[in-house]
Amino acid sequence: MGAVDRELNLAQMQPIVYQQLQRSFEHGRLAHAYLFEGEKGTGKHEMGIWLAQHLFCTQLQDNQPCGTCNNCRRIENKEHPDVLVIEPDGQTIKVEQIRRLQTEFSRSGYESRKKVFLIQSAEKMNSSAANSLLKFLEEPTGDFLAILETDAVGRILPTIQSRCQVLHFQELSKESLIHKLQEEQISNEKAKLLAFLTNSLGKAVEISQDEWFNDAKDLIYQWFVYLQKHDTQAFIYVQKKLTKAFKEKSQQFTGLMILMFYYQEAQYQAINAGEYGKVKQINRTIERILTAEQKLRSNVSFQAVAEQFVLQTIF
Ligand SMILES: [Zn+2]
Repeated sequence: MGAVDRELNLAQMQPIVYQQLQRSFEHGRLAHAYLFEGEKGTGKHEMGIWLAQHLFCTQLQDNQPCGTCNNCRRIENKEHPDVLVIEPDGQTIKVEQIRRLQTEFSRSGYESRKKVFLIQSAEKMNSSAANSLLKFLEEPTGDFLAILETDAVGRILPTIQSRCQVLHFQELSKESLIHKLQEEQISNEKAKLLAFLTNSLGKAVEISQDEWFNDAKDLIYQWFVYLQKHDTQAFIYVQKKLTKAFKEKSQQFTGLMILMFYYQEAQYQAINAGEYGKVKQINRTIERILTAEQKLRSNVSFQAVAEQFVLQTIF
């Protein structure tokens, strides 16, 4: 995705946050610390990267980072020495990660250059990490910009929140996501499926280009057709096709999600046609998909889960 496209996307996805940051930028009134909060897939990290690029880009165009200069590229690839991205180490962000950040920042304190750090999933800081960060925000060493990202703002210490400018990222509406995907030359049906799987435009585009996914959605569709016809092929199909294509656990979950999507579409059609018997029947099937998902989560094999699902659905 080119820089211009990304600007447009950020501006469309999060018009309020985008304009606010752009204005602060133009007036030289950026805060020292931001807390970006909102659902997954709403562009928080992309906005953080954009902001960092804004600061370091050597070829700003219309006051926008170019996305292609050396600095822009290094920031995008997490290779820029003055832009640090902290991610959870396993389940938590540990105090050592925050300390390392402080060391890193004080070391080059004699340089006048600004530094940026982004903390992803900031709610995952354990309490000592959070306290360490709080101290850092209260007594900053050097000139820096802190960007904290979270989808669980309630789990961020109030004392940290009060040190940050909190910006809310609104969830993308399904409609606007589908619309944007169609602009990317993705068919309506596929766009609907992608919007069912994710709220994130970037993620949706990425999935749409994935070869495995494109095969997988067709395989699941064929399975869905057999199931709808109560055809015993649906049972054989599990071993013959599905177990081969859905090897990884994550693929198996995606497979069930895709199946869920086809049933949901069928349900909308049945509702529109006033076929309430059919609606009820589909409801039960959807419940069975949810049960299948739970079983998969508790480590029952995909084949066993899928075969049992078929038996319950077609007989
Ligand atoms: Zn640039």
